Amino acid sequence: MTTIQNIAILGATGSIGASTLDVIARHPSRFRVAALTANRQVDELAELCRRHRPDYACVADSSHAPRLRERLAGAGVGCKVLAGEAGLVEIASLPKVDCVMAAIVGAAGLRATLAAAKAGKKLLLANKEALVVAGPVFMETVRSSGATLLPIDSEHNAIFQCLPPFAAGELATKGIRRILLTGSGGPFRARARAELHRVTPEEACAHPNWVMGRKISVDSATMMNKGLEIIEAHWLFGASPQQIQVVVHPQSVVHSMVEYADGSVIAQLGHPDMRTPIAQALAYPERIDAGVSSLDLFRIGVLSFEQPDFERFPALGLAYAALRSGGAAPATLNAANEVAVAAFLEGRLPFLRITAVIEETLASAAANTPAALEDVLAADASARGRASQIVARFNSNAA
Ligand code: NAD
Ligand code: MG
Repeated sequence: MTTIQNIAILGATGSIGASTLDVIARHPSRFRVAALTANRQVDELAELCRRHRPDYACVADSSHAPRLRERLAGAGVGCKVLAGEAGLVEIASLPKVDCVMAAIVGAAGLRATLAAAKAGKKLLLANKEALVVAGPVFMETVRSSGATLLPIDSEHNAIFQCLPPFAAGELATKGIRRILLTGSGGPFRARARAELHRVTPEEACAHPNWVMGRKISVDSATMMNKGLEIIEAHWLFGASPQQIQVVVHPQSVVHSMVEYADGSVIAQLGHPDMRTPIAQALAYPERIDAGVSSLDLFRIGVLSFEQPDFERFPALGLAYAALRSGGAAPATLNAANEVAVAAFLEGRLPFLRITAVIEETLASAAANTPAALEDVLAADASARGRASQIVARFNSNAA
């Protein structure tokens, strides 16, 4: 007889939030929604609260809290409304919450995700930026609190499934040679760089295999998503940069692989549907139905693999370099990427300039080694400032 897990979803109105709620709704005897959060999508959040009846709801942007209260009262939903980053942190630490799905996009999710780690929760990590920005602080917090950290990113969830019972930080002693991190190559995998000057946000967000939020979709198009995932794999599994090999795999069926010292390569396969890793982590170590159909290998027919192209996709090299530099470099890389992607999505920066902004921001970053969370946040803030100036300078040159 399993006891009911109380789940808090940070970023409930997003793509991962929707997939999580879909899996939870299939298993009412296992999971209960305890709290839901959003940035400022009040109508969507109110509708989710009406359907899932959580105890708490929170909007990160406090100015939207009165409207959320009004909507919930109008719908006869009696959940407690919290607001701001403090509200997110409170939800992530609630004693009645057993499991936190960290699915806020970007470094904005760092404090709440870290709060869940500190509170020793079962922590389902989709918010890869939190780990990229604050890897050492994050992993140390997980270790000292005894939190159970389960990766949701499909590649890292696949690697987790291919490893012997959790081998974090011990790759060499577990006889592991390499991690083969697969990626589809994104919507521009087969395009020449010269063809990418004028791509629109809509083209960049039209991923061939996955339906995702807009920021991660643009990251997939520049391949910075894979870059962030290299850093994520380093912190989650203790793999050195040279132990992490990116493999372009256009079909997105093999979600990643682990190669052992004896030559064995273990892969995890499945449909490109985030409900699979979400269900794996929610039920871990058991297995449950995720609403995902069987993989029809006869219809797929061919699985192909290609070398990544570091020239057409400079984001990969920037991410490896930031990981090797350590210190504030990964936080700087992430902050500059967030600023540049937002500018691209708002039509203020051409697609090919995204990685140029990141490169220039990294080049001008101070070479300090952030130790505490406050240092990491300071590096993040100063990188945002510099990246915004670089974007503004581009606009004034282009005008
Ligand atoms: P999304 O844009 O669809 O949703 C983001 C969620 O975060 C929304 O609920 C939004 O309200 C909330 N949010 C946005 N800004 C916020 C802020 N400043 N403060 C608080 N909340 C805020 O994004 P997504 O595609 O669901 O991705 C979420 C995270 O999961 C990202 O870190 C992404 O890299 C990761 N991830 C997503 C997928 C996927 O398939 N979508 C796969 C792997 C990893
Ligand atoms: Mg991924």
